[in-house]
Amino acid sequence: MTTEHIAASINPWQVAQQQFDLAAERLNLDPGLRRVLREPRRELTVHFPVKMDDGSVQVFTGYRVQHNLGRGPAKGGIRYHQDVTLDEVKALAMWMTWKCAVVGIPYGGGKGGVIVDPKKLSQKELEALSRRFFTEIEVLVGPERDIPAPDVNTNAQVMAWFMDTYSMHAGHTVPGVVTGKPISLGGSEGRNEATARGTVFCIIEAARHLGIELPKARVAIQGFGNAGSIAAQLIGNEGATVVAVSDSTGGIHNPDGLDIKRILAWKKEHGTVQGFPGTTDITNEQLLEVDCDILIPAALENQITNRNADRIKAKLIAEAANGPTTPDADRELFRNSKFMIPDILCNAGGVTVSYFEWVQDLNRDHWSESVVNDKLKEIMVKAFQETLAIARREQIDMRTAAYLLAVQRVADATALRGLYP
Ligand code: NAD
Repeated sequence: MTTEHIAASINPWQVAQQQFDLAAERLNLDPGLRRVLREPRRELTVHFPVKMDDGSVQVFTGYRVQHNLGRGPAKGGIRYHQDVTLDEVKALAMWMTWKCAVVGIPYGGGKGGVIVDPKKLSQKELEALSRRFFTEIEVLVGPERDIPAPDVNTNAQVMAWFMDTYSMHAGHTVPGVVTGKPISLGGSEGRNEATARGTVFCIIEAARHLGIELPKARVAIQGFGNAGSIAAQLIGNEGATVVAVSDSTGGIHNPDGLDIKRILAWKKEHGTVQGFPGTTDITNEQLLEVDCDILIPAALENQITNRNADRIKAKLIAEAANGPTTPDADRELFRNSKFMIPDILCNAGGVTVSYFEWVQDLNRDHWSESVVNDKLKEIMVKAFQETLAIARREQIDMRTAAYLLAVQRVADATALRGLYP
């Protein structure tokens, strides 16, 4: 079985609930609270028509899930992918709740997705699909209620269509309804790079803790989209050598290092990183097991499982992706003294700068990139150090530590608000 088949056979919602149960058990959480936090608050499924370029009408299915609204409005991206399922969106929404709590921003967790391979749509079809999907989920979204953002296969252009659609219905411009917008429409400086930048801030802290010298470190990165390709550039700026990268078509490897800028141009031209001169083509399975010091999964869920965890050579794993590691793989990695920066901490830079964008929109303000990056650094370093302190005190892995921090914060907020009615 390939990692793709294995990944598809593991239910991310079960993974998310297992991770929560582990934390709830350790925190000795009240059984009633445990029941509440274990389920999403709202799940919306929509089936909606889109007129295609050939004149036919196709019906697509999409979801918006709000896991928890205890600490603020729901926040989370919208994914376009042919394999999206309701259970995947539920897991991603729950992870958003914990992520916002780890970094201490005043949001709950939400997520959305549409079952579609956007590469098969024209730009016109993509716009029609985006506008109609957003219209369908408008019963839930709004700047005070639920604020979507980009995720896999959605970008600033899609956010611009979402914002315009909502604004047309409202009769006035509402920039705060989505984040990750183009800068000319109220987007924030630094948002495009924020997920990767947050990951690199975490890697710098972890490397210092582990005694890894970044200028001597070799890095492998799975996924070469927003999170992966920008992480490749930013970790290169720290002096590290990126030796392998991959996208959905496969990967490339050169132990002497890769020229990331040229690979970006190559991918733009050829639609794949593979075949880049001076590199060896490898599979996505091989990429995860490449000889390196730091591994950055930046693609999809369930990539590191009990099948390959014992073959991971990297000492440090930085989860730019959401849910790339299963709980049994986590246990194996911890046994093998691998240091894991878990997704809910490692990729929280994206939602943190989304929060900055929303604050700027609500205040009709615009911050400089250096202000954004400085504030981001402060939040990421604090969250990393708080998580590390728990991990050391309790002698546990970083994921469990991040969960203890997050679940406790959400549980406290929920308990203080009390049960309505
Ligand atoms: P993207 O669409 O920009 O890029 C996804 C990349 O993954 C592409 O290069 C694609 O080819 C590759 N990919 C897809 N399937 C793959 C497979 N089976 N094997 C290897 N590579 C594969 O998406 P993104 O925004 O970079 O998101 C990547 C991950 O980061 C997701 O898990 C997402 O939830 C997470 N994330 C993104 C953000 C953000 O702000 N964009 C924030 C937090 C977390």
